[in-house]
Amino acid sequence: MHLSLTEEQRMIRDTARQFAESELAPQAAVLDTHEGRDILLANLRSLAGLGFMGLNVRSDYGGTDAGVIAFSAAITELARGCASTAVTVSVTNMVAEVIQAVGSEEQRALYLPRICSGEYPAAAFCLTESGAGSDPAAMRTRAVLDGKEWVLDGSKIYITSAEYAGCFVVWAVTDPDAPKGKGISCFIVENGLEGIEIGRAEEKMGQRGSATNTVTFSDCRVPADALMGEEGRGYRVAVGELAGGRIGIGSLALGIGLAALEHARNYLGEREQFGAKIGTFQGLQWMLADRYTEMEAARLLLMQAAWNKEQGLDFGTSASMAKLFASEKANEACYSALQILGGAGYIREYPLERMARDVRITSIYEGTSEIQRVIIARDLLREVL
Ligand SMILES: Cc1cc2nc3c(=O)[nH]c(=O)nc-3n(C[C@H](O)[C@H](O)[C@H](O)COP(=O)(O)OP(=O)(O)OC[C@H]3O[C@@H](n4cnc5c(N)ncnc54)[C@H](O)[C@@H]3O)c2cc1C
Repeated sequence: MHLSLTEEQRMIRDTARQFAESELAPQAAVLDTHEGRDILLANLRSLAGLGFMGLNVRSDYGGTDAGVIAFSAAITELARGCASTAVTVSVTNMVAEVIQAVGSEEQRALYLPRICSGEYPAAAFCLTESGAGSDPAAMRTRAVLDGKEWVLDGSKIYITSAEYAGCFVVWAVTDPDAPKGKGISCFIVENGLEGIEIGRAEEKMGQRGSATNTVTFSDCRVPADALMGEEGRGYRVAVGELAGGRIGIGSLALGIGLAALEHARNYLGEREQFGAKIGTFQGLQWMLADRYTEMEAARLLLMQAAWNKEQGLDFGTSASMAKLFASEKANEACYSALQILGGAGYIREYPLERMARDVRITSIYEGTSEIQRVIIARDLLREVL
């Protein structure tokens, strides 16, 4: 594994950093309110123009073909500016990768250019249901073949970007008699079809600029060729793609943690108490030193997972380790950074309270910390249990 970025990876990271500093950070507080939707959509259009909506998608489908390390570095930089925009980009990239991985040639040629070019503002990943969160194989959404159409019925919850996504990848049970996890298939579905109802955006603690919706399918008819990959093999696809998505979420957590620590560092050099800059107090210096060290360790774990994926190696456990560590340590970074700002950290005028809210979900979605530990332990104990 090479620890330094290539010239192309550096260029992508720097472009993301500049965009985050000039466009995302100044608007992040507005995105956190109900007035932010148009800004988010404008951000997404610009980011598609810069090639961020298919970072690991082949160029003949309109992608940037920059690889997973570049994707990770880009998401971290975007999240330093605005976590809501970064999660939308991360999930859209994940959906594009599902289509690239298991879609037919026709499906790739149809959907990937639309996602990569920004014709679709975003794309959504419809897996979770009210009775199937950490255990997605317990899903109840059904897809039944009726002549030349699949008929979808069921409800997905907590779907990122559903209200402005151009398309969804949707998982549904096609063989209810198969053993658990074996009779699930994956579909590509255009938003706006008859029989799809998008619920209003959930009120959330953080990442409020990104919409999270319920998506209900009622007698929703999609063509037979909406099936992606092999019938009955969709659960493996979901598990595999979530592992890649975890590199995105870990990278996003890292970006939020670094942004919070940057504010804390500056504050340590400005604020005076007891006749001295508070940065001269060793208790606070150590807090900063520990948190930056953890963020650097998170970056290395993320790079390792990204490198494994890029090399075509088994990367599931390394992605879980990276997501677990990055998201938990980024939560701690935000907690410490807010503490360093004292009362100012808690006041909305400063961005720390938003960052502390934005970071919280990173140890929950795309697999909770507990589920990451289950995956890691299963791998560690495979040969002894
Ligand atoms: C803002 C937001 C955006 C989201 N975006 C999407 C999206 O775009 N697409 C999508 O499909 N889903 C999405 N999700 C869903 C998300 O992935 C789930 O919420 C998450 O996987 C946890 O599922 P759950 O909420 O049902 O919790 P549960 O599974 O009910 O878990 C409850 C608790 O039990 C613990 N637990 C469960 N099983 C075990 C176990 N075996 N061992 C130990 N502890 C366990 C969990 O860690 C947790 O602490 C999103 C959620 C949110 C909040």
